[in-house]
Amino acid sequence: ELHPLLERSFVPVQAASSNPNNGPVLRIMQWNVLAQALSTGDDNFVLCPGKALDWENRKLHLLEEILRYRPHILCLEEVDNFSFFQESLINFGYMGIFYPKPDSPCMWVENNTGPDGCAVLYSTKHLILSESNSIVLQEESGLDTNQVSVICKFQLKGDNSKKSVHEFCVAVTHLKAKKGFDEMRFQQGKHLLKYLDKYSTIPLFICGDFNAEPTEAVYDLFQKSKFGLVSVYTHLNKEGKEPPYTTWKIRGEFGGNKENCKTIDYIWHTKNGINVKSVLAFPSGEAIGENRLPSMTYPSDHLSLACDFQLV
Ligand code: NDP
Ligand code: CA
Repeated sequence: ELHPLLERSFVPVQAASSNPNNGPVLRIMQWNVLAQALSTGDDNFVLCPGKALDWENRKLHLLEEILRYRPHILCLEEVDNFSFFQESLINFGYMGIFYPKPDSPCMWVENNTGPDGCAVLYSTKHLILSESNSIVLQEESGLDTNQVSVICKFQLKGDNSKKSVHEFCVAVTHLKAKKGFDEMRFQQGKHLLKYLDKYSTIPLFICGDFNAEPTEAVYDLFQKSKFGLVSVYTHLNKEGKEPPYTTWKIRGEFGGNKENCKTIDYIWHTKNGINVKSVLAFPSGEAIGENRLPSMTYPSDHLSLACDFQLV
């Protein structure tokens, strides 16, 4: 009953780099997959047909988007159906880790399938998971918030020669949503960066729905961090700017429909030891359609981000 999934393509990028141009290539995907409970609950996507939100339909497009690009590493947020992803993707060689939010809003929705949280899935054919940690993000005061992060250390398989072991770290997070919480997002970002200190000697990737536009303090914090982090989609244009949107939706709100089109999802990477090869481009507004996302041609209100990195 669904329409064909939105077409997208990888665009090669030539990022200035002093690194040598050889080494294995790794594909990473970042995606807020839209919690099933929220899609039919609070989100109120008034212009989206019910059929598109029906889990039996939507799950097929979610899987199709992932398998179309076959990332080595998949970082997901708003996962309230982890068993579906795990059980489907195990057939394609993936294993995963899931960590729920302490007090997920999904639990307030009737017929929910459990709390939502962050997940990392990885290709066991290519990677060895050497370490994983799941944490609750804290405010500066040390108080726990309702947001989490999953942090994984990987080693590339077939790397047995004595001289080269490719190790790297991948973190996924979903920062606090909504207007007025800029300071909380900033403190959550600060906590995560501090936690990641112990991985400062290896290449680092941080994927997430930051719920923060590039003008927010938490973006600046990441951009100026001592890790030398770059947001990979800034390689897509000459000016080094972020794309115009990673999420585009229309919600029914008191007083009328509200359109929301902004960039809040990112894949951050360290410059050292990494060459960016290509980035999965975003569809145009015309291709997305006037009712925006989610839709019969795309299963989430957030577009997936994906890129190919060369590990030098
Ligand atoms: P957040 O503020 O981080 O938001 C949770 C989710 O809501 C996110 O996934 C976000 O999506 C989505 N969201 C953001 N803006 C809107 C919007 N305008 N309309 C609908 N959904 C939106 O949540 P917290 O983690 O702080 O959790 C919420 C708290 O509220 C919890 O303590 C929960 O128990 C409580 N709660 C209570 C309810 C009740 O009935 N008493 C009902 C719901 C929640 P995205 O990141 O994509 O923007
Ligand atoms: Ca959401």
